[in-house]
Amino acid sequence: MLYNNYMERKTERLQDLDIDTFGFEDALEYGFAKRGQVVTLNPEMVMNSKKNIDLKKIINNAELVIPDGVGIEIGLKILGKKAHRIAGIEYAKAMIRKYWENSLPIALVGARQEVLELTCANLKKEFADIKIVYAHNGFFDNEDNVKLALRKSGAKLALIALGSPKQEQFIYDLKKNMPDTLFIGVGGSFDVWSNKVERAPEFYQKAGLEWLYRTVKEPARFRRIFPTLPLFVLRVIKERICKC
Ligand code: UDP
Repeated sequence: MLYNNYMERKTERLQDLDIDTFGFEDALEYGFAKRGQVVTLNPEMVMNSKKNIDLKKIINNAELVIPDGVGIEIGLKILGKKAHRIAGIEYAKAMIRKYWENSLPIALVGARQEVLELTCANLKKEFADIKIVYAHNGFFDNEDNVKLALRKSGAKLALIALGSPKQEQFIYDLKKNMPDTLFIGVGGSFDVWSNKVERAPEFYQKAGLEWLYRTVKEPARFRRIFPTLPLFVLRVIKERICKC
């Protein structure tokens, strides 16, 4: 087991969820050594965890919970706490690189078939001889068959892009049976890696405004963000006031 036991998790609590405070490189090293489930947390998931007790349990049982996006950073700031914002998509790509450098096999599950194929093709271009031992789109009838095939594949890194909370549950169900595998719930990352969806320009990424750019580009997302985002901020303000 590669577990790097000198690295201790330091978490901060927000809305009854434990969130890791590692910087990017440490989060990368920790995930690589520890295996298990990486959750890339956003305010929408925090709000869902209020109604969905399973999701809350899964998040709090994850090996690593990284604050994906400015919303979680702001939430923690309101509580007087701090964690490094880590874009899940960048974390996942850096992890692919690490697994590739170590010649370890990877698997991809999720997204539409065309998106999945383009993602695999682009990864093969970027990482010569990358070992993709299993790839399946995210629209399957028999989930058990996909899980079984993934187990049999021997993948050591599994990127699961089924959207939340589906991907978190899928990973949770599998991780006890695949103790040497690292799983990351990567949301819409395959859509970006396939070049089907553009990431926001760097300016928006740095300013923490990627969500705004994506909402303007894809107005259908508006309903997902509002009223969730303002409600999230109100909840956190309430958390702060009640504890003071
Ligand atoms: N997806 C999937 N199976 C499903 C539902 C969604 O594979 O049953 C995929 C979808 O095609 C997309 C990804 O899951 O590639 C997540 O998309 P979303 O925009 O919801 O992700 P996020 O906003 O979390 O990044």
